[in-house]
Amino acid sequence: EETSSSPDASPAASSPESSSSSSPDVSAKGMLIGVGMPTQSLQRWNEDGANMKAQLEAKGYKVDLQYANNDVNTQVSQLENMILKGCKILVIAAIDGSALTNVLNNAHNAGIKVIAYDRLIMNSPYVDYYATFDNFKVGVVQGKYIEKNLGLKDGKGPFNIELFAGSPNDNNANYFYKGAMSILDQYINNGKLVVSSGQKDFAKIAIQDWDSAKAQARMDNLITANYAGGKKLDAVLSPNDSLAIGIVASLKNAGYGTDSKPYPILTGQDCDKPNVKAMINKQQSMSIFKDTRTLATKVVEMVDAILTGKEAPVNDIKTYNNGSKVVPSFLCDPVFADASNYKQILIDSGYYKESDLK
Ligand code: BGC
Repeated sequence: EETSSSPDASPAASSPESSSSSSPDVSAKGMLIGVGMPTQSLQRWNEDGANMKAQLEAKGYKVDLQYANNDVNTQVSQLENMILKGCKILVIAAIDGSALTNVLNNAHNAGIKVIAYDRLIMNSPYVDYYATFDNFKVGVVQGKYIEKNLGLKDGKGPFNIELFAGSPNDNNANYFYKGAMSILDQYINNGKLVVSSGQKDFAKIAIQDWDSAKAQARMDNLITANYAGGKKLDAVLSPNDSLAIGIVASLKNAGYGTDSKPYPILTGQDCDKPNVKAMINKQQSMSIFKDTRTLATKVVEMVDAILTGKEAPVNDIKTYNNGSKVVPSFLCDPVFADASNYKQILIDSGYYKESDLK
């Protein structure tokens, strides 16, 4: 049994020849790591889970990977189970960032460390690290895309735009929206962008659970109420791909996608396969590529570091306050993707095969 290892063991006490190698020392091998993911219904989380499992196993860890069907109670009981099974570390992509305070108390009492994966876990002092992509920057890239492609910097306009935000229980959703509005707000204020519905408040435009059907329903309502009689939409801010899917379906039903009524500029995030196809078909304009392999690599480095008493990699210690503490974070860089560069960033990098996108 691996009795000699404790997360708090000093580096000196572990291996006498703790060299530059990043693989865990002998005592850490074979330990069980719990990985809690939100849902299999969205492609990105399948990639995240698969990459985490493969990379952890390659380092000699055992992995308990669970998906919770976007159901908060399911996720809580999966995490409770991981604690009972003796996981040494929990890596959690929360469904509701504010619903895990009790589970994290239990994890802490059992001496388990916690890494928040992609989404910050709120209101708990027991979040040890956070690894994600720079969420504010994701929104900035989306906002800048709209700015550039409408020619707003050259004074063009006015243009009609509608705004969407992500799930209110996901801390990321605020960051995406704030990032995008850091670019777009000035044009709404000077009248070059017109939000005909007037709906701008996060609470009004947020889509619960990042649900495609709910996004489609909201877009339907917006079109019916504000874009009847030939008035056209020029742009739609969508924070991610699952919303964009619903928005495209609604626009299509409303007759967009013809020469006289082309699709508005539409943003997204994740580069899910259906959305890359939509970009190729000119229904969605852009997406953000968040290479889940990169994120997994960082999190595995954090796991190794924690279990061998070394310092985990972080590059931001001021941004992510979860209400209890500022959580030391590693922010990966989000990458811009559209129809012109997807081959290079998605296929040449080995993330997808050309046949995935047919
Ligand atoms: C992630 C996005 C994802 C969204 C919906 C967010 O927390 O950062 O990549 O599109 O959740 O699952």
